[in-house]
Amino acid sequence: MSKKILLVSGHTSGYNYSEATGVNEGDLNIDMVKRTAPLLSSYTDVTLYPIERDMYKDNANGCLQVNLRAFDYIFEWHHNASNGQARGTSVQLHTNYRGGISVEQTIANNLAAIGFKKRGTNGIVRRSDLLNMRTCLAIGVDYALLETCFYDNAADMAIYNANKQRIAEAVANGIISAFGLSGGGVTGARAATVVGCTALNVRETPNGTIMGSVRGGSNVYIVGFGKDSDGDTWHKVQAGSMVGYVWPKYIG
Ligand SMILES: [Zn+2]
Repeated sequence: MSKKILLVSGHTSGYNYSEATGVNEGDLNIDMVKRTAPLLSSYTDVTLYPIERDMYKDNANGCLQVNLRAFDYIFEWHHNASNGQARGTSVQLHTNYRGGISVEQTIANNLAAIGFKKRGTNGIVRRSDLLNMRTCLAIGVDYALLETCFYDNAADMAIYNANKQRIAEAVANGIISAFGLSGGGVTGARAATVVGCTALNVRETPNGTIMGSVRGGSNVYIVGFGKDSDGDTWHKVQAGSMVGYVWPKYIG
């Protein structure tokens, strides 16, 4: 079973700053979709909504950057705020959505296992006031929004900061296992750095067409491997929104 999945980071870099915890929601959301995309990409077809854009604003302005109907599942990542008072995690669905919630319930359970209190009904919150959620319901594309935890609450953020990769895996594993995208879970993509060159070519296939490049010193995630026609092994990496093959000599 394969699904076309769109991962969305709510807001943009720097948005929704909390003086209490010194973090901003936009960067937390971007970090999480960057961690989750490579975990999912070994199992299914995953696309990142451009992380430098705000999908809500694009939707409101009629300039969405992707065709939402092209996806089977849209997952939008957020972190919650409540003047430091509230805590916990919730996966949010439209009040009138009548489809199954096994993916969302699994994600809520996985996040609760890391230490976050479940909000709403066993971690599921229903609402009807969000534009992207309403748009997806109207066109019949399954959509969920995660409020991971409260970014303005020090206790939630202590759990969060100690478990970032586990949180990404909790979400990826929920999607993979509840959709039946494979029999197993995710062990985690390995973070790495581009070394020994100023720009490293990223290719569509091992030794194939160049799709772009990443600067020396950039962070990438190794998500798999592939052999070219000479039998040489290339690394499959996630670099920003690009997923492609690079020569392993320049990955450290
Ligand atoms: Zn948000």
